[in-house]
Amino acid sequence: MTAVRSLDLPAPDAASPAAVSAPLRGALDVERIDTWVFDLDNTLYHPRANLFAQIDQRMAAFIMELLSVEYEAARTLQKRYFMEYGTTLRGLMRHYGVNPRRFLDYVHDIDLTVVGPDAGLARALEALPGRKLIFTNGDTPYARRVLERLGVAAHFEAIHDIVAADFVPKPEEAPYDQLLAEYGINARRAVFVEDMARNLAPAKARGMATVWVNNGSEKGDVNASPDFIDLEIADVSAWLSGIGRADMVARG
Ligand SMILES: [Mg+2]
Repeated sequence: MTAVRSLDLPAPDAASPAAVSAPLRGALDVERIDTWVFDLDNTLYHPRANLFAQIDQRMAAFIMELLSVEYEAARTLQKRYFMEYGTTLRGLMRHYGVNPRRFLDYVHDIDLTVVGPDAGLARALEALPGRKLIFTNGDTPYARRVLERLGVAAHFEAIHDIVAADFVPKPEEAPYDQLLAEYGINARRAVFVEDMARNLAPAKARGMATVWVNNGSEKGDVNASPDFIDLEIADVSAWLSGIGRADMVARG
């Protein structure tokens, strides 16, 4: 039997950037992981960038224009569709036959300069053995722009986006099965990393390991439960840097 190395490591040197990488709770056996699946928004960058606030405003503007209604009416419809269909887009497609490409391009036409390069994240991803994929409720052109801003695009093999998911968003079950099938992922050897705790439940149900990025993002802690969260961290970059370091210690 090989010894199981977990991420339940002793607290790192407080002066190092990995200091905040000590897990808040739980453990993960990284030896069994060969596929790393990451959410994008508020997971690979800090929620303080608040990109969703911009997207949210663009959605309202899209509806105002589409239906010739005032802001308040647009917001009400936007939120209602989000609650009923999981995304505003799905409601607009169903009720108004909105072209999804037009909607997605419009709402993601935002200022990304608030997201800057993350050299630490790029280094950590580079050092991380295994495949890396993005699983997002956003769309691929937007995800690629964000990854490029962060300077980490080259490290990801693929982006499983809302279009590939036939507009069925996380945490509905279907896109998880689709992701695993499409990329031939063995769930038992994969981990999903997400800021919205509830999106981890279907991953866990399929045998994936789960990491909750508890960074204070909006609705991030809704329905959070240790039943389906293996590891709780505060910051992906710091956490992954800690893994790289642990590997070097193990190899050294
Ligand atoms: Mg997210």
